[in-house]
Amino acid sequence: MKALVKSQAQVGLWLEDVPEPTVGINDVLIRVDRTGICGTDMHIYQWDNWAQKTIPVPLVVGHEFVGEVVEVGSNVNDFHPGEIVSGEGHVVCGRCRNCLAGRRHLCAATTGVGVNRSGAFAEYISLPMSNVWHHHAGIDLDVASIFDPFGNAVHTALSFPILGEDVLITGAGPIGCMAAAVAQYAGARFVVVTDVNPWRLDLAKRMGATRTVNVKHESLAEVQADLGMTEGFDVGLEMSGNPSAFRQMLDNMAHGGKIAMLGIPAEPIAIDWNQVVFNMLSIKGIYGREMYETWYKMTVLLQGGLDISPVITNRHHYTDFQLAFDEMATGQTGKSILYWRD
Ligand code: NAD
Ligand code: ZN
Repeated sequence: MKALVKSQAQVGLWLEDVPEPTVGINDVLIRVDRTGICGTDMHIYQWDNWAQKTIPVPLVVGHEFVGEVVEVGSNVNDFHPGEIVSGEGHVVCGRCRNCLAGRRHLCAATTGVGVNRSGAFAEYISLPMSNVWHHHAGIDLDVASIFDPFGNAVHTALSFPILGEDVLITGAGPIGCMAAAVAQYAGARFVVVTDVNPWRLDLAKRMGATRTVNVKHESLAEVQADLGMTEGFDVGLEMSGNPSAFRQMLDNMAHGGKIAMLGIPAEPIAIDWNQVVFNMLSIKGIYGREMYETWYKMTVLLQGGLDISPVITNRHHYTDFQLAFDEMATGQTGKSILYWRD
């Protein structure tokens, strides 16, 4: 089968013929239809320090996808050929205390699809049945292909109550933009989104941000005054990984404010801990999606009318993957989708 492979320890990805994956007794074989390109895939493409330390070469990469079940192992009763599914990108051990307690997103032995094990940028992928999510009938296949990052947005945005609250999102990447849509839908009063990239801020506006802020030109204190806010943001969603974005968030939280941190900083960030202590802030790290509470929420939000489709801005056949990665490098994209079936 065709697959996008990190086959050399240098910048790039290579379209190659690789063997079809094997199907164990607990596995589901899926014919991939569409895949989303994640920032993680870009790190692997660019072969940065994190990728060099993490990715075994050669590896089929990619983890955001939708496809059709084509074969199931002998232990699998709940999935059948023809069904439309996506895969949870974190494969957990199933045996540790957290897994056994049903807190599988907290498993310390998590491995990543397309990071530590063979991924989804391929014509077929095989996954344990416990990692397969059955989509509801009628789902838009482009949207289905980005359930993984949509899940990051939903997990983060719904970490704290936001009905009637003022929400600050730092970073208008695809996940920040989807989180803005979720926060708006879930009843926040103001959803303020910061970035330094005007193109991305425009996308956040289209996704439902009440107010977008280019922090190169405008301060959050001015924006708060403009909106008539006097006590700061109740909930902060850090979605940039940028140190100054996080510090600006700390500067603008209400006393007792709650921060959910999804963004992955490249280096340790120094902050003024007095702000955390005296303002009595709660900070919660977010990794992946809750299995499978987040997936239920995503399904129900979409069925209830939430529309995240504007976040998908670029679509290509998989043979044009180079163009897709080049476009992403410009910073003027939301989600980019690769089509694997003609
Ligand atoms: P992205 O890189 O596309 O978006 C980040 C955005 O932050 C960019 O638009 C960038 O311009 C913006 N930014 C840079 N400096 C800023 C500043 N000073 N203030 C405000 N914004 C600034 O990333 P994404 O795919 O949307 O993902 C968001 C973050 O979440 C990334 O850090 C990513 O690595 C991380 N992530 C975490 C998990 C997890 O499980 N914890 C999963 C996926 C992604
Ligand atoms: Zn575990």
